[in-house]
Amino acid sequence: MDAQYFSPKVDYGVILDKLKDEFNKKFVRNTPSPSCGLDNFIIKATLGAGSFGKVQLIKEKEGDNYYASKQLSKDQIIKTKQVSHVMSEKKVLNSMCFPFTVNLVSSFKDNDSLYLVLPLIMGGELFTYHRKVRKFSEKQARFYAAQVFLALEYLHYCSLLYRDLKPENIMLDKNGYLKVTDFGFAKKVETRTMTLCGTPEYLPPEIIQSKPYGTSVDWWAFGVLIYEFVAGHSPFATHSRDVMVMYNKICEGDYKMPSAFSGPLRHLVDHLLQVDLSKRFGNLIGGNKDIKNHEWFKEVEWIPLLNQTIQPPYTPTISNAEDISNFDKHSEGKQKPKSKTVKHEEAFVDF
Ligand code: ATP
Ligand code: MG
Repeated sequence: MDAQYFSPKVDYGVILDKLKDEFNKKFVRNTPSPSCGLDNFIIKATLGAGSFGKVQLIKEKEGDNYYASKQLSKDQIIKTKQVSHVMSEKKVLNSMCFPFTVNLVSSFKDNDSLYLVLPLIMGGELFTYHRKVRKFSEKQARFYAAQVFLALEYLHYCSLLYRDLKPENIMLDKNGYLKVTDFGFAKKVETRTMTLCGTPEYLPPEIIQSKPYGTSVDWWAFGVLIYEFVAGHSPFATHSRDVMVMYNKICEGDYKMPSAFSGPLRHLVDHLLQVDLSKRFGNLIGGNKDIKNHEWFKEVEWIPLLNQTIQPPYTPTISNAEDISNFDKHSEGKQKPKSKTVKHEEAFVDF
């Protein structure tokens, strides 16, 4: 990412226009991935378990570079009817270029699986770190939330809905800055869409009620995220863990504002977790500016943040290139025997 993009002398709107142009140029081009390429890498460890397969730490055989490889089982994708989501994930990853989002390094496929090769982000999930410290101070929450805001602003500017915001999908890089990962639900839409997807705790009322929706769904999830950062629990969590009870609470906007929240934080959360779309920040006449210029974000220096010249509140400990101590442990499992023939060739011809 070219740092000169983020000069304080250039209007940020002009920068976003340029980033959007670049995104759109790449988005229309799709080169199908070569068949296999995993032979060029050594698999070192499992970093995460996705819904369609594993995310693994891989190292080049003929070089010293490390990457994360997200494997997606073709059978699983077909079974869950996710072909279009996977195609969209690849195209979106391949088109993005922003400091706080991951991007595609390369991709390939073999008889059974598709592979997305991503830059390796070694600080682990923000989820894991947050669980360890339980709560962030408002200052620390603001540092992370501001980066997530910029990522969402960029994605929306490129006409993308993200639709899966949660601490499990936000990674900490080696310096303590964030990278949003997992574009499995990201969708390019010029107007509105209807698909039901996302993670229960972060779903807004309009998705639960199957109403058409737009970028406001991400701002709702952003409200849930900030609340959770500072409170240490989700606003709509229920003791019974009954999803229907939780959906009712979400649709009624039934949550408690912790007394420890500062006035500005209460005001911001209250305007993000608005069931009434005509009152939700990000969806009003002021657009994203209602969030970016909000009092809670007043002390954020946006351009230095984009240029990553601000000292992060926490730097992950990473002792070497293969240190996976910032990730939860995953069993390596047995390697399934590889198929002798190409599975679902037609369905993934463009991948
Ligand atoms: P889920 O359905 O659980 O959201 P998914 O199939 O969409 O999963 P991802 O969320 O993209 O998969 O990845 C699963 C996990 O793998 C992440 O939560 C993270 O722990 C790890 N991971 C993903 N991308 C990277 C990366 N670039 N570097 C390091 N680890 C990563
Ligand atoms: Mg995920």
